[in-house]
Amino acid sequence: MIKLRPHHLLCILSYVGKGYSESFTANFDVLAERINNGEREIEIVQGPDDICAPRLCDENDITCHCYEERIILRDKIALENLNYNYGDVISLDPNWIKDMRERFHLGENRQACQGCQWYDLCTGIAEHGFKEGKLKDE
Ligand code: SF4
Repeated sequence: MIKLRPHHLLCILSYVGKGYSESFTANFDVLAERINNGEREIEIVQGPDDICAPRLCDENDITCHCYEERIILRDKIALENLNYNYGDVISLDPNWIKDMRERFHLGENRQACQGCQWYDLCTGIAEHGFKEGKLKDE
């Protein structure tokens, strides 16, 4: 089952192939494709997830971006805002994606995005109806 950390439930909605590094986007591409191909069950996990696998950082390297306090806080806010818990298994089916994208566009589920360096990019993608998004919603 695909594992995602909470704030990546937002990032995946507006993912268009841009990110921190080539390996990050390569992993993200594979993951979006797996979901598009029907692997829709997602387990919400703490810390590095399947987008970071194979690890972009050493699992024991707590100085890695994945373990930064601001990123952990982003996850905490996303969990509260989306009303999920670690360990929850959810289905990223087309209805879930459409509903989340609508709320994303309205700013209703984006509390965790505050302060993110990609904020304006993701806002622009939402304003264009997520047309360039790699995750299909039908
Ligand atoms: S603004 Fe940042 S946290 Fe929010 S969806 Fe975009 S990349 Fe993810």
